[in-house]
Amino acid sequence: MKKWGFLIGIILIGYIIAQAPAFLVEDKGMPIVILNKDDKYAGYQAISGQKMQEQIHKGNLVLVNSKHAIQPEGVRSDIVYVAGEAELSQGYGLMDQKLMLSREVAERFQRMVEAAGAEDVRYFLMSSGYRDFEKQDELYRQKGSDYALPAGYSEHNLGLSLDVGSSLAAMSEAPEGAWLEKNAWKYGFILRYPKDKVNVTGIQYEPWHFRYVGMPHSAVMAKNGMVLEEYLEMLKAKKNVTVNLDGETYHIHYYQVSKDTRIYLPVNEPYDISGDNMEGVIVTVKKSL
Ligand SMILES: [Zn+2]
Repeated sequence: MKKWGFLIGIILIGYIIAQAPAFLVEDKGMPIVILNKDDKYAGYQAISGQKMQEQIHKGNLVLVNSKHAIQPEGVRSDIVYVAGEAELSQGYGLMDQKLMLSREVAERFQRMVEAAGAEDVRYFLMSSGYRDFEKQDELYRQKGSDYALPAGYSEHNLGLSLDVGSSLAAMSEAPEGAWLEKNAWKYGFILRYPKDKVNVTGIQYEPWHFRYVGMPHSAVMAKNGMVLEEYLEMLKAKKNVTVNLDGETYHIHYYQVSKDTRIYLPVNEPYDISGDNMEGVIVTVKKSL
């Protein structure tokens, strides 16, 4: 009898997911992995927490703010001069020919600008990208703490953030700003310092500063009105979150890393791994329905 109740429960959960609108966050509370006779996760490999220490500080989800500085391994390894990559600098203006950014982030930005252009929003300017610690330090000393953050505490030092302007008006007034605020999440970007979250981020409203976090994280944050600080707190509390988005299912797992932690990575499926720059790593597994 009990067994039947359990089965019906599973079917109901399946039904609810199938009937749900395109977007759903669900805390399933159980591992997605299948146990075999040896009590090992079939199709997954376990990595010891000891080997994951360095991962804590790198990846698309690392939190950088006044309390959490960038570790050297957090800086992206695919930094390029955007102007030097013809296929990544089409249809928008570059404020500086020496502007640098993660290649992956520049690619996503290019896709986003193309999508905006198709909706007749086409006056974007990329005004700032990656800054190394030395350049950040120079900026901080020249402009002061009202304008710049000290080296190691600015997301620009990661290569994952960029400042976007419009050649029509200030971003708070321009159609480019409004379009990005509404659509950037579809391309993996978040408005990092929204107007109504100054008390959480500790940073004034910056309608121009966008941070790449990737899908599905940008979608969950945008749909739930969370900033990165709140999102990482939610993942840490829930541990396992399932997101259904446009025909894809993502399983997100948070692990607090210690030498005794085992972190499970799929062997045959695509996944992304990122630290939170505090004490955890987040494994995101994408499954096509
Ligand atoms: Zn910025």
